[in-house]
Amino acid sequence: MSADREAELLAGVPDGLFIGGVWRGSSDGTTFDVGDPSTGEVIRTIASASVADGTAALDAACDAFKSWSRTPSRERAELLRRAFDLLTERREEFALLMTLEMGKPLAEARGEVTYGGEFLRWFSEEAAHVQGRYGANPEGTGRMIVSQHPVGPCYLITPWNFPLAMATRKIAPALAAGCTVVVKPAALTPLTTLYFAKLLADAGLPAGVVNVITTSHSGDVSDAIIADPRLRKLSFTGSTEVGRKLLAQAANGVLRTSMELGGNAPFVVFEDADLDKAVDGAIAAKFRNIGQACTAANRFIVHSSVAEEFAQRVTERVRGFRTGRGTEDGVTIGPLIDDRAVAKASELVADAVSRGATVRAGGHPIDRPGTFYEATVVSDVQPGSDILREEIFGPVLAITTFAEEDEAVAIANDTEYGLVSYVYTQNLARGQRMIERLATGMMGLNLGVLSNAAAPFGGWKLSGLGREGGAEGIHEYLQTKYTLTPNPFA
Ligand code: NAD
Repeated sequence: MSADREAELLAGVPDGLFIGGVWRGSSDGTTFDVGDPSTGEVIRTIASASVADGTAALDAACDAFKSWSRTPSRERAELLRRAFDLLTERREEFALLMTLEMGKPLAEARGEVTYGGEFLRWFSEEAAHVQGRYGANPEGTGRMIVSQHPVGPCYLITPWNFPLAMATRKIAPALAAGCTVVVKPAALTPLTTLYFAKLLADAGLPAGVVNVITTSHSGDVSDAIIADPRLRKLSFTGSTEVGRKLLAQAANGVLRTSMELGGNAPFVVFEDADLDKAVDGAIAAKFRNIGQACTAANRFIVHSSVAEEFAQRVTERVRGFRTGRGTEDGVTIGPLIDDRAVAKASELVADAVSRGATVRAGGHPIDRPGTFYEATVVSDVQPGSDILREEIFGPVLAITTFAEEDEAVAIANDTEYGLVSYVYTQNLARGQRMIERLATGMMGLNLGVLSNAAAPFGGWKLSGLGREGGAEGIHEYLQTKYTLTPNPFA
């Protein structure tokens, strides 16, 4: 990958705020730096929105809502479809940009472009299929009409780990439903969203339908937007800690909310599992995105009769990984997002070891520029270890064991989170029992990766509220009206 190509791409990324179809600096002239986690170097300096800029973005979204909400759904669908086609054309640029600002290996970044693009295609298809109902009331005295309407201007807050897909997963259904939006990407990875806003403008997006504000002080800017009575919906993806705070703020305006929050996914391997498939699934569910996914398997709960073989086989695979800058050929593990993430992985492993766990591979930060941590396997993790309770968000595969099915279920459900679970068994009845017994919004049954634009993504318990994708996704941005008219024959 040539340095020239990287420099050329970065120079083409807007460095301003996108408000009302216009690129501009922040009102107080402040900026902030965006770094490459694989080198620690600054790659771009961009505008940092003030509270006034946030309000200006909401002004633009409110203005544009008047016409966008009345734009025929077919036109909205065609805009999304053009965006999908353009993203497909610019796949390599988006992949490289994500690798530069977030660190994931290029092959994975390409996968995210495909995944993120599918939300544009899916919701372009959904846009024109929103249906209402018409029918007689049971008394026969009236006619009942049930219709769907866009909820209004929305505020969308996205995390750093999937810079493109977390944005398209919100923007596409919002636009399909007839809503306008203000998007605030994470300060660690704002470039992909800015570049995507440019793509939307190229696709013919009317001014003000999508506004992007980047800022180094999310709290103040967001507080003002969420408190504004014109806002009707808040959609957030990020940590449970911040999500809870935002939910409390949203309560004042009784806002519609979607919350995609943290996870602590169990990955259960029964004694009757196909171990080849379980190992493949484990590697994918754990190490995709350098372990920094809300869907990442956090706790490997393995039947004691196969635990040693499972541990040996995943360790062998992990030893074959190549860690490095995501742009280099053959790299499978990139850097963690920042120093805090490295410190957290180190602390979790140290705590597990102090309680009796064994490190089979890795277990240390890597002494080189950037924020790298070795791909790690720890086995014999004891109950009570922090690593079983907290979201690791790093390349650490932690194995604990069980003896009976009931025990596996109890361990798997022993968490305040409920986003996703993974189960490996060849016993059909057992698989069906797990669907009913594991308290998660999603399950991979003999599969380690399950995200799909056509599926309702979302969690139970502290993992969130609402669903993104699937037939459900557009309804997060629609509100229902019931109208009664008299029986025309009475
Ligand atoms: P985070 O909560 O720190 O930040 C998420 C977003 O919120 C960022 O844009 C950030 O700038 C913003 N933010 C932070 N404080 C804020 C405040 N006070 N007011 C308004 N906005 C604020 O999370 P993160 O570290 O970026 O992402 C990692 C977390 O996201 C993990 O917990 C992960 O599980 C979760 N996640 C969940 C899903 C899902 O779909 N459930 C998907 C991806 C990530």
